[in-house]
Amino acid sequence: MGISVIGLNKRYGPVTAIGGVSFDIADGEFVSLLGPSGCGKTTTLRCIAGLEDATGGRISIGGRLVSAPEEGLLVPAHERQIGMVFQSYAVWPHMTVQQNVAFPLSVRGVPTAAATAQVMEALTTVGLGHLAERHPSQLSGGQQQRVALARAIVGKPSVLLFDEPLSNLDAKLREGMRGEIHRLQRRLGIAAVYVTHDREEALSMSDRVIVMEQGRIVQMGTPRDLYRRPNSRFVADFVGKVGLFPLRREAGGWSSEDGTRVVVGDGVAAGTTAIGAVRPENIRLYRRGETGPEANMLAGVVADAQYLGPFTEYVVDVAGASLRAFAQMDLSPGAEVTLGIDPDNLVLLPATEAHA
Ligand code: ATP
Repeated sequence: MGISVIGLNKRYGPVTAIGGVSFDIADGEFVSLLGPSGCGKTTTLRCIAGLEDATGGRISIGGRLVSAPEEGLLVPAHERQIGMVFQSYAVWPHMTVQQNVAFPLSVRGVPTAAATAQVMEALTTVGLGHLAERHPSQLSGGQQQRVALARAIVGKPSVLLFDEPLSNLDAKLREGMRGEIHRLQRRLGIAAVYVTHDREEALSMSDRVIVMEQGRIVQMGTPRDLYRRPNSRFVADFVGKVGLFPLRREAGGWSSEDGTRVVVGDGVAAGTTAIGAVRPENIRLYRRGETGPEANMLAGVVADAQYLGPFTEYVVDVAGASLRAFAQMDLSPGAEVTLGIDPDNLVLLPATEAHA
């Protein structure tokens, strides 16, 4: 059941905000829409919610078709069985916590006794049972966001939609709330769509991540897939720090710009040029002259070093590029080094971005 989106389109006059987006989300699955500002993730979420009217395509929620504008079908938001949490908590200041959470039930005409029980259940679920009589101004930002969460779940929705719900919280609280939202969604066992531009949030919370760019999906997969096997420079860069260096195909294999033979892992590249992509934690640094078990050994020179506590982040000039490497050894700029890279950690990417 969950959510099914097929060929979703949304135009604002001449602007195409979403150009044909398709994905399925199973019951109990937590999926993030990740991408830079303006890529269309919020518009996609709002079309699912019914807060924007899609221009084309089909959306089903819990097996029920709710949006098919070409067939004249656009079910209003309040009939879509969704719970939604916004970035601005969107709680009403003049109402108590209890009244805020009860609001969606009163709109639906749920009798008072039943509503009171449901509200208390939702407040208890988010740990706010004891603050039911307070007003939002008497709550912290994190508590207000929990009120919004309780309001989203009080009507027993069949899907939960989140629009950057943690962006207004400080870093420490954000991490705590990530865990809470995740546990809550697991407990409810319903589909969740979570819009964010924060890669850590997306990677840490999601079963799958959908990366969007310019109104299209550029890759979807598990957090591990996306991080380890990006299919483009855009995705590689968006989901984490990455070093990119040019490769060219020569008789029998790939070589770096300085002519070193390079053994790559997965990836696809047509033609005679490509980009090698490697994460900083997957580069092993050796002092020049030392060697290790990695199949790729590239000569480089340390250009910059930043001590960060658990490790030092080095920028190393190598074969026509600058690569970042995390290492615990103490090296100064100018040091000559060798970079050991296992082929399994070196992804081949197309030299030009197909979708750019
Ligand atoms: P952000 O993280 O900044 O919210 P986003 O990825 O969620 O970005 P959207 O808000 O979905 O992006 O916007 C997608 C595109 O649609 C953008 O180019 C935006 O300018 C455009 N857009 C959104 N709302 C409207 C509107 N009401 N009128 C015209 N264009 C709009």
